Amino acid sequence: TDSDTWTGQRVKEADREYVIHSWSVQGALDPIPVAGGAGSWFWDYEGRKYLDFQSQLVNLNLGHQHPRLVEAIRQQAEQLCYIGPGFAERSRAELAEMLAELTPGDLKMTFFTTGGAAANENAIRLARHVTGRQKVIARYRSYHGATNGAISLTGDPRRWSAEPGMPGVVRMLDPYTYRCPAGHPDPCPVCTGGPHLEEILQYENPNTVAAVIVEPVTGTNGLIYPPDGYLRSLREVCDRYGIMLIFDEVMAGFGRTGTWFACDHWDVVPDIVTTAKGLNSGYVPLGAMTVSSRISDWLKDNMFWGGLTYAGHPLACASGVASLKIMQDEHVVENAKAMGERLGAGLARLAEHHPSIGEIRGRGLFYGVELVKDRESREPLVPFNAKGPAAAPVGRLLKTAMERGLYLTANFNVLRLTPPLVIQDSEIDLALDVLDDVLKLADEQYVG
Ligand code: PLP
Repeated sequence: TDSDTWTGQRVKEADREYVIHSWSVQGALDPIPVAGGAGSWFWDYEGRKYLDFQSQLVNLNLGHQHPRLVEAIRQQAEQLCYIGPGFAERSRAELAEMLAELTPGDLKMTFFTTGGAAANENAIRLARHVTGRQKVIARYRSYHGATNGAISLTGDPRRWSAEPGMPGVVRMLDPYTYRCPAGHPDPCPVCTGGPHLEEILQYENPNTVAAVIVEPVTGTNGLIYPPDGYLRSLREVCDRYGIMLIFDEVMAGFGRTGTWFACDHWDVVPDIVTTAKGLNSGYVPLGAMTVSSRISDWLKDNMFWGGLTYAGHPLACASGVASLKIMQDEHVVENAKAMGERLGAGLARLAEHHPSIGEIRGRGLFYGVELVKDRESREPLVPFNAKGPAAAPVGRLLKTAMERGLYLTANFNVLRLTPPLVIQDSEIDLALDVLDDVLKLADEQYVG
């Protein structure tokens, strides 16, 4: 059959000739041809297995090929693959209803998109319409997506490629306590949130600011957890000036941090939450923007100026419904919390004898390990925005892990440990064993 001629080699050759990969110089790529996956593992055509300690793009929360999730998509495909967004459809209605229940506070109505960026685009536009204001405050250590508005909100250096981008974005500093840009005096105005935001608003004119958008826990850009009180402080300032607070929970939502939503750790409710990734474990492209009761009421009498051919795609929504039910039935959030504790304890043990570990940050299965050349000075193992030879030390560590069957990635000097939420004890322990060896290499070659 034709499929027999598609060897791993053939797949790779066609890929390199015809497929454009994200965020890459195409000629520098050497992608592994993947033949399949199950649970926390995927494998190549030679049968080499890799423990997926990334959940791919931190979206495959239920792991590869969850049988119940695959079956739900199959059933929906048999019943109705597609119907336009103008119709009422079961999987779409059911998922929206479930989201109203699961999301915090009074978050109620949902607009479905095809991913996280589109959810953020719609959140910003809606916040502008609801408030009648234009500006949006976003942070430097952030990633909100690759479309024009979302990449403009994004702080990380990928934004540079799209500038000047969407007008009206004002930047705020991050509560990055380990490397606080304000020098972290006690109490620190940046890391407590409100004072820094207040100062920016004073210069910007609060009456021109529609929204503040933050990842409650920063994902891609270094796994940064805000100090207690930070999000509440932002909430209070936003309330004082009638500004919409938007939480981008695209990466941190749906159990990743050991609670349903990252903001649940601090009991702070946004006006709008955007989600994607873990919403349906990425089996079919899906994102969502869920808005407060107040905005839901506003939408009864005002236009919603947004639309997509695939808004509320039945296959995507059916996989969302199934995904959330699996999470409930199989106690996936509880597993993320328990496995996170095991991972956290293991990492703390590693820190005792690996001087390359500067800081460990995490809850649930959302961990970052900040690598340094020197614990005292906190000099990062590779600098911010390191590329090419400058990034090679971390590249070597990731390659060594891969050779040992552990798939890891990093944001410059921060290793990201974000395995599927269905991972088991033995798999956590296996990853810690490989990490021990990888960190030994880091200590020997790059520390001191
Ligand atoms: N927001 C956050 C926090 C993300 O991590 C991402 C993707 O990594 C996005 C938005 C963009 O989502 P998508 O790639 O589905 O457009």
